[in-house]
Amino acid sequence: MSARLAQVAALPSVASARRLVIKLGSALVVDPEAAAPRQGWLGEVAADIAGLRAQGTEVIVVSSGAIALARRTLNLTQPRLRLEEKQAAAAVGQIRLAQAWTEALSAQRLTAAQLLLTMEDTEDRRRYLNARATLTTLLGLGCVPVINENDTVATAEIRFGDNDRLAARVAEMVQADQLVLFSDIDGLYTADPRRDPAAAHIPVVPAMTAEIDAMGGEPPPGYSSGGMRTKLAAARIATSAGCAMAIALGHQPHPLRALAEGARCTWFLPSQDGRSARKRWIAGSLSPLGSVTVDAGAARALSTGRSLLPAGVRGIAGDFARGDAVRVLGPDGAEVARGLSAYNSDDARRIIGHRSEEIEAILGWRGRDELIHRDDLVIL
Ligand code: GLU
Repeated sequence: MSARLAQVAALPSVASARRLVIKLGSALVVDPEAAAPRQGWLGEVAADIAGLRAQGTEVIVVSSGAIALARRTLNLTQPRLRLEEKQAAAAVGQIRLAQAWTEALSAQRLTAAQLLLTMEDTEDRRRYLNARATLTTLLGLGCVPVINENDTVATAEIRFGDNDRLAARVAEMVQADQLVLFSDIDGLYTADPRRDPAAAHIPVVPAMTAEIDAMGGEPPPGYSSGGMRTKLAAARIATSAGCAMAIALGHQPHPLRALAEGARCTWFLPSQDGRSARKRWIAGSLSPLGSVTVDAGAARALSTGRSLLPAGVRGIAGDFARGDAVRVLGPDGAEVARGLSAYNSDDARRIIGHRSEEIEAILGWRGRDELIHRDDLVIL
């Protein structure tokens, strides 16, 4: 096998994804002439999703198009809209967008489920856990979640503003192994190929570097909010969460099938860092609301990869809810780990020092055996 073929063979393939997030931009979903969804093409995407589901791949769709679908109806056709105008347009267009997806997916006997998220839903710990639980439940029930930004309520501060990064956050949240951003271009080039004939296509990006970031260029004019820059920002989020990401051409029949069959694209490979997506998130983007102090035996158990049991905890500080991040302090007060507590601070105070079998008798209900499960724990 040639070196090039060997390299291609090692690339991810959507056909083998376990959990796949696909993002479709407004320019793909909405036909500007008709100011309506491209129903035929959505039907092909839905058929591709059904094919993947049949072979065991869970698929989540992040679909733009709400604002674009409502512009003409509302006579908001100027290239730049004010935030309130975008919000009004999204309120009108999202209903049509949801309808278009329901129609496309139900033709494949798939159930569409709509989720509208804001940046806060992917950062605030309780909302994050809720959104993740809803998404994984929906996937377990065989549904196809169709996600967009909750544009109607998202103020400037809590907005993503582009669905590329939203899709990457969703991929991180559900620990997807692959994310595909369908675009009007078949990947990343060394320069803008529409302007520079010498621009070369890059089939694989092993790691995000400053040099790659510099290929982002300026955002495109007109309706679309993305461009290469937000796609590279998405690549950073996804790859550092252990998820492979592709930029692929959407404007073609059966785009997912085409990609599975080897259509040209750019793959961004997941970072080799061993930490799982979830653990990065716990370690990085949460501000702990309390702390638990453990004894020497528990500290040792944690360092060998065990969960934290109530029996090994000496004290609780702070006021936190179930699912909140807490610091884990060793007997000397130094932070040894960080994790998500399975009990709120009041309940945790009551069960510490006790064996897990006693939890039910103490609280009157049977909770988790662990105060912090090892999957929710990051050793520092
Ligand atoms: N959420 C916006 C919409 O549905 C699109 C944002 C984007 O495409 O990046 O219209």
